[in-house]
Amino acid sequence: MNTFSVINPATEQIIAEVPSISLAETDVAIETAANAFESWRRVAPGDRARLLRRFAALVDANLEPLAQLEVANAGHTISNARWEAGNVRDVLDYYAGAPERHTGLQIPVPGGVDITFREPLGVVGVIVPWNFPMPIAAWGFAPALAAGNTVILKPAEITPLTAMRLGELALEAGIPEGVFTVLTGKGSVVGWRFVTHQKVAKVCFTGSTEVGTQIMAGCAEQIKRVTLELGGKSANVVFADADLEMAAARAPYGVFDNAGQDCCARSRILVERSAYDRFMELLEPAVAGVVVGDPTLESTEMGPLVSSSQLEVVTSFVPDGAPVAFRGSCPTGPGFWFPPTVLAPVDPAAAVVTEEIFGPVVVVIPFEDEADAISIANDTSFGLSGSIWTRDVGRALRAARGIEAGNLSVNSHSSVRYWTPFGGFKRSGIGRELGPDALDSFTEVKNVFLATDD
Ligand code: NAD
Repeated sequence: MNTFSVINPATEQIIAEVPSISLAETDVAIETAANAFESWRRVAPGDRARLLRRFAALVDANLEPLAQLEVANAGHTISNARWEAGNVRDVLDYYAGAPERHTGLQIPVPGGVDITFREPLGVVGVIVPWNFPMPIAAWGFAPALAAGNTVILKPAEITPLTAMRLGELALEAGIPEGVFTVLTGKGSVVGWRFVTHQKVAKVCFTGSTEVGTQIMAGCAEQIKRVTLELGGKSANVVFADADLEMAAARAPYGVFDNAGQDCCARSRILVERSAYDRFMELLEPAVAGVVVGDPTLESTEMGPLVSSSQLEVVTSFVPDGAPVAFRGSCPTGPGFWFPPTVLAPVDPAAAVVTEEIFGPVVVVIPFEDEADAISIANDTSFGLSGSIWTRDVGRALRAARGIEAGNLSVNSHSSVRYWTPFGGFKRSGIGRELGPDALDSFTEVKNVFLATDD
């Protein structure tokens, strides 16, 4: 059997060999999932809910080992990894409430009764990136399973371990064989087969805009349902009337969390010109204070990058002579380390301003007024997240309505809450995950009319 090696990014040690599933094996798994769909969709709503709650309880019971596995595989800090495993539990619990409440409509019509049903789609293929292996997997599989679909899930090649464990826990919880299957392997083989196989009804993809574009084009061949969660270049807009101390203290965590490998990273800090100098004075010690190091330690706030190739990509954005205003520190020696780095002043056309870096690098850009802030924030092909720091409620709402992005927060950098919809405008994606909206994208609405008049 072909395998690939999984590496701990903080030590560069190989920690596992994982099967690289072939095209033929993928086809078998898709057929199995298609067969399982016929019975899973008929499981009574209360029983499906109970199975999902049991799955959630098992994730909860295994929270610490799952978190430790993610620390070893992805280099996430232990505190982040615990949050991530807890998020899987919460998302499962949240959608366990859905089967019994997923109602349709009764619509007044002449001559009869009209009702709608929310029908499951069939086999859903979930394709997951390496940056948040656990939560992003759960945002796909939990609502998909709750709605009565079966799921085949492909984790990223370099971070498959927690997904594999979640697949085992689902079986332990009593979810029948074939209902939720994790397939480790290459994107171009396993992932692409989700796109081309006629029995996969929908692809739920999170990853780069480049691959997402190919997936959408491939799905178009079969008018296959698709949701895409792609890249970002989000703005953190700081107005002069904000609590500057708090805005500067929090700004590093809005971009350097998960070593900047976050689609919601606020990688452009826009600061009103009259407050720019003061903000930079406050930002420098905040960046220096970010604790970068061994991700197994509770005190660590930022770990390594996920791989040597990601380190190369990030390094290429900060060549010798780059306009580094200041940086934090990071370990030397084994591991894919890159220090928190602040670039300013920057040329608005520079790649560091326009492209997603997916590493701990942020640019700081001054703006003149509210209109200028919104215009700079929107001067990107992405539209995923953003933050607005101000004490003026009206301005906060005007800016939030003006910025073309799916998830905005005022005086906070929070983007993801499982109760609320998450997704992107423009090239950041299509469709919404989490919250009540996610169920819509895992079901079709069916309208049924019953004639009552002769
Ligand atoms: P990627 O696009 O290279 O890979 C994502 C997944 O797609 C992996 O599982 C990969 O194996 C698979 N894949 C690759 N080629 C494929 C193909 N031809 N057909 C089918 N599947 C294929 O992205 P990545 O480098 O793993 O992740 C980083 C990117 O993900 C960043 O751009 C980031 O912004 C984005 N991201 C977006 C969100 C969001 O919610 N919007 C969340 C996390 C990450």
